[in-house]
Amino acid sequence: MTAFSKIEPDLRAALPPKTFPNLQPRYLEEPRGRWAGRGGLLVSPASTEEVARVVSHCAEHGVPVVPYGGGTGLVGGQVSGDLEPVILSLERMSAIREVDATENALVAEAGVTLQAAQEAAEGVDRLFPLTIASQGSARIGGVMATNAGGVNVLRYGNARDLCLGLEAVLPDGSVLRGLSPLRKNNTGYDLRHLMIGAEGTLGIITAATLRLHPRPAKAGAAMMVVRDPAAALDLLNLARDRIGEGVSAFELIGRFGLDALAEHMPDVRLPLGRPDWSVLIDLGLSASGDPEAALLDLFEAGTEAGLVSDGVVAQSEGQRAEMWAVRESIPLANRKVGAVSSHDISVPTAAIPAFIPEATAAVAAVGRFRINCFGHVGDGNLHFNVFPVPGESRADHEDRRDAIKRAVHDVVHRFGGSVSAEHGVGRLKVDDLERYVDPVKLAAMRAIKGALDPKGIMNPGAVLRAR
Ligand SMILES: Cc1cc2nc3c(=O)[nH]c(=O)nc-3n(C[C@H](O)[C@H](O)[C@H](O)COP(=O)(O)OP(=O)(O)OC[C@H]3O[C@@H](n4cnc5c(N)ncnc54)[C@H](O)[C@@H]3O)c2cc1C
Repeated sequence: MTAFSKIEPDLRAALPPKTFPNLQPRYLEEPRGRWAGRGGLLVSPASTEEVARVVSHCAEHGVPVVPYGGGTGLVGGQVSGDLEPVILSLERMSAIREVDATENALVAEAGVTLQAAQEAAEGVDRLFPLTIASQGSARIGGVMATNAGGVNVLRYGNARDLCLGLEAVLPDGSVLRGLSPLRKNNTGYDLRHLMIGAEGTLGIITAATLRLHPRPAKAGAAMMVVRDPAAALDLLNLARDRIGEGVSAFELIGRFGLDALAEHMPDVRLPLGRPDWSVLIDLGLSASGDPEAALLDLFEAGTEAGLVSDGVVAQSEGQRAEMWAVRESIPLANRKVGAVSSHDISVPTAAIPAFIPEATAAVAAVGRFRINCFGHVGDGNLHFNVFPVPGESRADHEDRRDAIKRAVHDVVHRFGGSVSAEHGVGRLKVDDLERYVDPVKLAAMRAIKGALDPKGIMNPGAVLRAR
């Protein structure tokens, strides 16, 4: 691959000076500090046409392009490794181009933060339901490129389900204009779905048409103590039977996470103390609904069925926020403990109760560790994180991380699950993709990459090994 220096003078001559901000260290780092970039030319265009001009130059001279959104990706896709690429930041493309409450659609440029998109939807009394803890920094382009998930997938689906159209610059610099909000459009291949989840390896997303939903008029939340993960699943089914689509989120919380909160973030109030297993249930209902009554009814039915032994229903928006603070603070408390290895995996929901003890046993066969298993149980996505026992630290086990990861992923694979549920492949999971994914799928992916990006300039080394 050609280094950026070959085209830097031409690019600077072709674009306004503002397009070339200083390369701050954050563009070469990632949130967990496990990957670092060596350098690159930071280019931050202000329009789709400018993005196309940059990509055309790169394509002509074989210079690698690494797209950069908010930099919150957890698998190293936005970090250039040892290339000398053009780091193409979409941060200056931050306009909401259109919001249409009648069409239930919002057109956001790639650099709009997820939170700003949510707020723009709220401005017309609509909901953009994709919710992740990094939403203040993550940007629409990155959210689409990683097919982000989060806590509301159960009800509203992931980024793919919430995207009606895309505009993207392809690896040769041409512009794919597909922002139509049409719900029905069967005119051949839907290229939007190729770009979503491609992690910048097939082109640069410059704007997206987002699918909006009605805002639930009434919200409610409860935490309930369950016997075990199997009881949590039975309770979820009971909740769906009784409340239907109104169940927006259903999160499993293990004891380890609560212990970590008590030790490292004692300000976070734990409404139910520290049970072995509990769930956080969130509801969004229409104006005629009564979330508190629905949750009390669920609590009673769950208790009667022997699934629930204790619980608390939020009596105010403040209490609901307190419950969410518990769930959202667990990853932060985890970070303070320091995981040896973290796994963002999914298995079919019915397999969750059998998966957890098998994966725990597989880790125990590698060594003595503690497990924090929690997450979006409603969609089969668990965070299965492995921690050192008290008195030891993450640094003591650096040499065992690969063995732990392999042990957990082998069990995931045996259960027909995915070794990347929502964070993507990036550079971190390229080996896993090769090991676990269907070879026919892998061959088709390589063929698509070769056809759209014959010079291999788009985010080389992410998702697929660089040729
Ligand atoms: C605290 C925390 C909580 C998180 N929680 C969740 C969660 O619940 N669910 C979840 O799914 N993820 C979660 N994430 C991961 C991350 O926030 C998401 O992957 C997010 O979608 C990344 O968006 P970004 O703009 O930061 O992308 P970046 O990190 O900048 O980039 C991510 C990938 O997308 C590519 N890319 C970025 N912009 C574009 C573009 N415009 N066109 C093409 N490719 C592009 C990059 O090259 C890279 O491969 C979390 C991260 C953190 C730090």
